[in-house]
Amino acid sequence: MPKGELNFEEGKIIDTTSGGEWVANKDRVFEFIKIEDLEKRENVCSKIFNAAPYQEENILKFLKENSEKPLSEQWLLGKTELIEVEKSQEELSMIEDVISKMDEFIKKYKGSPVHLKQEQVHFLDSEKETKRKEAGFYAPQVQFIGIMREKNSLSENTHRVIHEVLHFQSFQTLQISDKKGRAIPRRLGLEIISDKTGKDYFTFINEAITEILTEKFEEAFLNSPIQIQKRKERRQNDKDKGIVMGYEGEVRIFKEILEEIYNRNQDRFLSTEDVFNVFAESYMTGELLEIARIFKKTYGKKSFRKIGEIK
Ligand SMILES: [Zn+2]
Repeated sequence: MPKGELNFEEGKIIDTTSGGEWVANKDRVFEFIKIEDLEKRENVCSKIFNAAPYQEENILKFLKENSEKPLSEQWLLGKTELIEVEKSQEELSMIEDVISKMDEFIKKYKGSPVHLKQEQVHFLDSEKETKRKEAGFYAPQVQFIGIMREKNSLSENTHRVIHEVLHFQSFQTLQISDKKGRAIPRRLGLEIISDKTGKDYFTFINEAITEILTEKFEEAFLNSPIQIQKRKERRQNDKDKGIVMGYEGEVRIFKEILEEIYNRNQDRFLSTEDVFNVFAESYMTGELLEIARIFKKTYGKKSFRKIGEIK
């Protein structure tokens, strides 16, 4: 039973509660769906909507086992031209290092880390793959992390691994699509995917948060003099070559939003960092109500939806 609702169109908050997910129903009214024991989750996917209980159980079991399998056994991704490459010893230790330090980082933002094995992080041949433009991807419906491996750049590959591992550890639910008849993502961090409209909302904020968290993780945990030096070199190298860093535009706009929220709500927040933490916690726990309230107070009615639609 929904305990409260939030009108997506009006940005009207009718009731408040916590410990679950706000989801839009067919009338675009947000309903609160309680998800029990999020903090004890064993699977990164907390719930599958629109699924019969047996179906949900089977899919969750599949997800747990699937992502460690090699690319050749991935039914959903098998049609692409992706080619898996073996990780070097150096790359293996880098992934283990990131994984071992990530739990503490996730918990800092009230997240519930799920055990991740290095076998779930797949390195792909970036030279042979021409269709995909992104540096890496995370497919929630198969729990597959793919990294386009950049030759001779451990620093760049580290950045890509952290980014995708953060997506993996963020709040997520799936839904059985009425149109496609199979499981598709429903929530990923702050992102909302609507099966009805086929659109996604808050994608740009979701990527901006992931990038900012990636940098924070690097600064906090990968801070040996050599690691700092390598990062500096990589950034300079990108700049020289005119390469735009991942999601630079998204990060810039999101930082402007954080600044604006802070300026208009100084009675509540001590800094923009303080505002960012609210977003990062929503990214980990799935709770959107607090953010909806902040948007409404800062930008007025209907702003939650409008900001959600920014591309
Ligand atoms: Zn991303």
